[in-house]
Amino acid sequence: MTKFQDMIYERPDFDKEIESMRQLLDQLQNAQDEQTFFDTLIAVDKQGRKLSTQGTLAQIRHSIDTRDEFYIAEDEAWNENGPRFQELSNLGARIILNSPYREAVARKYGKHLLEKFELQLKTFKPEILEDLIAENKLVSDYDRLIASAQIEFDGKTLNLSQMGPYNESTDRAVRKAANQAVWGWFAKHQEQLDTIYDKLVALRHGIGKKLGYDNFIPVAYARMGRTDWTPEDAKSYRKQIVDSVVPLTQKLYKEQAQRIGLPFEEMKNYDFALDFLTGNPKPVGGEEVLVKHASQMYHELSPQTDEFFQVMVGQQLMDLTTKPGKSAGGYMTFLPDYKVPFIFSNFNGTSGDVDVLTHEAGHAFQGYLQRDVELTDIADYTSEVAEIHSMSMEFFTHPWMEGFFGPDTEKYYYQHVTSALKFLPYGASVDEFQEWVYEHPEATPQERRAQYREIEKKYLPHINYDGLDYLEQGGRWQRQGHIFFAPFYYLDYTLAQVVALQYFTWTKKDKDAAWDSYLTLCLQSGRVPFKELVPAAGLESPFEDGAIAQITPQLEAYLDGLDKSKIK
Ligand SMILES: [Zn+2]
Repeated sequence: MTKFQDMIYERPDFDKEIESMRQLLDQLQNAQDEQTFFDTLIAVDKQGRKLSTQGTLAQIRHSIDTRDEFYIAEDEAWNENGPRFQELSNLGARIILNSPYREAVARKYGKHLLEKFELQLKTFKPEILEDLIAENKLVSDYDRLIASAQIEFDGKTLNLSQMGPYNESTDRAVRKAANQAVWGWFAKHQEQLDTIYDKLVALRHGIGKKLGYDNFIPVAYARMGRTDWTPEDAKSYRKQIVDSVVPLTQKLYKEQAQRIGLPFEEMKNYDFALDFLTGNPKPVGGEEVLVKHASQMYHELSPQTDEFFQVMVGQQLMDLTTKPGKSAGGYMTFLPDYKVPFIFSNFNGTSGDVDVLTHEAGHAFQGYLQRDVELTDIADYTSEVAEIHSMSMEFFTHPWMEGFFGPDTEKYYYQHVTSALKFLPYGASVDEFQEWVYEHPEATPQERRAQYREIEKKYLPHINYDGLDYLEQGGRWQRQGHIFFAPFYYLDYTLAQVVALQYFTWTKKDKDAAWDSYLTLCLQSGRVPFKELVPAAGLESPFEDGAIAQITPQLEAYLDGLDKSKIK
């Protein structure tokens, strides 16, 4: 039971590792019988886990303090050498697909594993190795730039995450000033951000061409591991959002304006961050209080979650509170050699802190459930599946919210469900924007901004930027890190959100059946693709026409049934 701080990091001898991996792959290719073939496959996987553990340790510790010289150097070493292993991973996939034991693999591990290997081969050729290294570097540039943000505000020097509470202030003047300060920082760095993104788009378009496609989009879909849905599916799904969700969210925004006492026409973007005049729901305490209640909650939720959370606390696998130098955002990752997840976040006193203990913990819980999988690749799943694990956990934990939010609980419920709904159009807009960007790789930063603003108006017609130039001209997307580091990721969040909302409506009818379905879905993840996984769990695929229209009335009824006297 190694604690995180006692896990030993040592930079691998990359040349030696590659050499030894090549030898193993040689053995795999020349295996004379099925037993040798499978034994070698396990050995390859074991070496991969060892490397992944070291790379992940370096990445976690670098993100905990981006100023630490030692881990800056390690992060760079992994950025440079990581892509060299992708070539080997592709070689491994090719050997398995061409092997006489191919059918034995399908029988033992399921045919979806072979489909995943086939797709993986579409994302790589040795000719793009240098491009991948350059892409990694640009993403790191973006990360560092955002993490370096220092905003003078309220007599302090704050990072973007520390600005969170001011953005939600009940004092309109404070919200307005915080909004100007945050976007002022982005405006000041617009050129740098434009340059990074320009280079990324050109590079990715080039990668698409080198891999034999018209543009980057098929590569992006293959990278996302999508074996079962296409840009056409995405397009009609986005239309469901425009038709069924946008009208409902506009109604919710009008209710919000009324609640906070402003005419709807006068609502500015910084006003929409404030859901309630009495302030957004606030957690009842800091890290210690919240983690203690989370322990209780996971203890009561199920034996599996209880065991999982005890490990997280006991082995100190969470770095939760924000501090100078820490990388922005939150994530969960996995340390295969130790068979444990790790949770990283920036607690800042907002309800987002609780989301970490439900959302990131949902990811981590699923990782923990799968810790003994025989072959890493079997449990490898796409991100719209991954986000089901996390977003559904946010809803399964609803009955315990009182301990996190006290008197603000009813407000939390209202905000959680409404923000899930409000998220769908935003997520779809990010997807449509990226589709346009990679269909028009020659577009200038100005053209991109103009296009973003147009798309934004379709999905978020209520937004008024109060004359802030940077936003008026379509700059908001530059704050959305996924657009830089994980192209086309965003629709996945919305797909998972729709599934999680289905689980929510299910828990209202039969929470035990819903939880059993969730456990099965977590364990089946990676074995079958999204469009099969979801119906097999007794839910409807969001791609099915009308899937969204089916849940929106139930959610509206839930919101109407909440105690409005506590929501103000
Ligand atoms: Zn997530």
